[in-house]
Amino acid sequence: QAKKAGGNTMRFFNQKMQDIINVRTSLEHELRIAVAKSQFNLYYQIQMDSSNRVWGAEALIRWVHPERGLVSPATFIPLAEETGLILPIGQWVIETACAQIKIWQKESLTRDLTLSVNVSAKQFRQTDFVDQVQSAVRRHAISANLLKLELTESLFQEDIKVTIATMNALNNIGIQFSLDDFGTGYSSLQYLKQLPLDQIKIDQSFVRDIAIDSNDRAIVKAIIAMAHILKIDVIAEGVETEEQRQLLLGKGCSFFQGYLFSKPIPIEQFEALIRSGSEFN
Ligand code: C2E
Ligand code: MG
Ligand code: MG
Ligand code: MG
Repeated sequence: QAKKAGGNTMRFFNQKMQDIINVRTSLEHELRIAVAKSQFNLYYQIQMDSSNRVWGAEALIRWVHPERGLVSPATFIPLAEETGLILPIGQWVIETACAQIKIWQKESLTRDLTLSVNVSAKQFRQTDFVDQVQSAVRRHAISANLLKLELTESLFQEDIKVTIATMNALNNIGIQFSLDDFGTGYSSLQYLKQLPLDQIKIDQSFVRDIAIDSNDRAIVKAIIAMAHILKIDVIAEGVETEEQRQLLLGKGCSFFQGYLFSKPIPIEQFEALIRSGSEFN
């Protein structure tokens, strides 16, 4: 009897594992099709300065799946990284972002917006990454300093010399850098001072409970103090309430991003938001 149950359990687990593998395989297959057919879209989330003026935007990718609808990057970016599909996807993101910056420059939508794009470690480590970015900036004839690349601390765990060299090469042509999800990864003051960083982005996990958790307040205060010493701007992500904004402002945070101002939205809506918002200009 027990043996029989064991056998069934075994089969049950095998079936579960098989299901997981099947889902992954079909998702990978669909992601390849998505790359071939360019089933992606960029959403834009506004970034504000301390006086609630528009400062910039972050481009966030969405997979427009023919049956599933919008697929979040949290679902497919890890798979894209594992399979190497992040390389063509990442290149598409940079191309699309540069094209968008050009449109804004032509339309004089507002004073020039800085557009931030997320770059994954694998993408950044391509030997021709500097050329890719430089070529996109040149072909679209945009000011390089309107493009800001968001990197994560994972890039500083290994090959730190290569990371610094790549960042310097891009910084020399005017590209800006933001360190995303700051405080969640591996940080060392030693390299922070060596990097050509324009901005540190306080991770939303510290912002979420800032009104109720004194530890989070202390961490945020320390991050901002450190950034000021290193002369790096600080932006907080995941700002959802005015109370959070006020607390961050009081600690010296200069830039803000989050649902308090807007969710990430499609380009038409984003441009309408910028045009309509008298409080924004
Ligand atoms: P991230 O770069 O840290 O982006 C912030 C995430 O927080 C976004 O999720 C954004 O929609 C969400 N968010 C913004 N404001 C708020 C808020 O007030 N409250 C809450 N709860 N969430 C907020 P999203 O768009 O799902 O992106 C998730 C992650 O996927 C990004 O985290 C980034 O790591 C990655 N990602 C997105 N687009 C790209 C891309 O083009 N390339 C790469 N390599 N990664 C990307
Ligand atoms: Mg980001
Ligand atoms: Mg982040
Ligand atoms: Mg994140």
